Amino acid sequence: MHSLAQLDQQYLWHPFTQMRDWAKREPIVIVRGQGTMLQDVYGREYLDANSSIWTNLHGHNHPRINTAIAGQLKKIAHSSALGLANEPASLLGEKLVQSANFKSRKPNRSSVQLNKVFFSDDGSTAMEVALKLAYEFARRTGHSKRPRFLSLDGAYHGDTVGAVALGHVDLFHKAYSGLLFKTDRAMAPYCYRCPFNQAKPERADAREYRKCKWECLSQLELKFASQKRNASPYAGFVFEPLIQGAAGMIAQPEGWLRRATDMARAHGASLIADEVMTGFGRTGGEMNDLSSARSLRLFACHKEAVQPDFLAVAKGLTGGYLPMAATLTTQKVFDAFLGDYEEFKTFFHGHSFTANQLGAAAALANLQLLAGAHSVRGRLRLEQVMREELKHLWSHPNIGDIRQVGLIAGIELVRDWRTRKPFALSERAGIRVCEAMAERGVLTRPIGNVIVIMPPYCTTDKQMKKIAGSLSEAMVEVFKK
Ligand code: PMP
Repeated sequence: MHSLAQLDQQYLWHPFTQMRDWAKREPIVIVRGQGTMLQDVYGREYLDANSSIWTNLHGHNHPRINTAIAGQLKKIAHSSALGLANEPASLLGEKLVQSANFKSRKPNRSSVQLNKVFFSDDGSTAMEVALKLAYEFARRTGHSKRPRFLSLDGAYHGDTVGAVALGHVDLFHKAYSGLLFKTDRAMAPYCYRCPFNQAKPERADAREYRKCKWECLSQLELKFASQKRNASPYAGFVFEPLIQGAAGMIAQPEGWLRRATDMARAHGASLIADEVMTGFGRTGGEMNDLSSARSLRLFACHKEAVQPDFLAVAKGLTGGYLPMAATLTTQKVFDAFLGDYEEFKTFFHGHSFTANQLGAAAALANLQLLAGAHSVRGRLRLEQVMREELKHLWSHPNIGDIRQVGLIAGIELVRDWRTRKPFALSERAGIRVCEAMAERGVLTRPIGNVIVIMPPYCTTDKQMKKIAGSLSEAMVEVFKK
């Protein structure tokens, strides 16, 4: 075993990993990356098919982001945001506000404007900040004495305790229930496994052939209404727009987001959008207009003309280079924290690396790259190529659903597509398929029985073909046994 792998096994504890299994085999030790490719200590190359857990946007070792970080490094790596402002964070604040507000000729039914940015370190802290701000805002404005939040079935908003309280993945969250405050859960629009969907399984994305009457929205309405009857309205409705990631890449049918958020607003709840995964172009172009740059939106919410009151971003903010996150909110929320010093209305929250200069420099370069014609063309193209390549997978009987939203795809493995019968988690179907893909030089990580394909935006047609091809071969290998 390589000495670095040995050191890893001796000293490290990996996230979301059964370390007993980890100890059974030599881990892949990554030493460099270039574009979509990762290279290990032995010089073996792998396609980074989940963009290093959904973070990387433009590929590894990107010259523009490297230059931005190196340039900043010559000035300063970090100074505190507690008591000091800094150059790249100030510039980034302006750019984020400009990009986070919905611009369109389509009617934007709310007049909400995001114009304040609170920086932190990762997706969990961005959500933690949103939660604390929304909580205090609800109390200070008299909306509620004991603010309560509503989030979706399968919700995952991070691993800090506040973010865990918003989550509803029993496997991850149940063990900590004693630590958590109570939040409510509402039905998520999981068409493939929806008890209200009358459609028989077909060889297509379940959203396309669903037969229902939006019962999921009726259920949501019931939640809002009963909360209003029992106490004060919800302080916030928390959601991942267009697609719930860790829930299993649960893609929402077109129109759900708009309707659900209209309903939340009508019931007086703030909208808290978690775009930690979906932000910065991940959700691609409009389905009916995949040929034009105008159809691309940086944020998933904007694809359904939704403007949230809180927007949490992380992962792709720095192009996936550095741990930096931001929570954007409105002037109204900001103003609720203004007062004379001795009123102690200050937002008492912060992290040592808040507004870190290296992160901010990388993020500025990322936003510039995203706006460039090359990136815009590449994203539109990759989305189409991915759609074409994934189509070939329908011939496998162990594929139940393929749901793609922009440059994110979840492929749900089932025992039998005709019955939608799932594999038991203990069968490790997703893990085994991903292991077989890794042997073919393609890296991704499953969520239970769902294989995630989320490549960097610079992925070539050939590389996309290889990703889909290796998944196909891996399934044949794993399920023939
Ligand atoms: N929200 C969403 C939607 C996420 O996908 C994740 C991470 N997968 C988080 C929050 C937490 O982000 P982080 O891991 O950076 O804390």
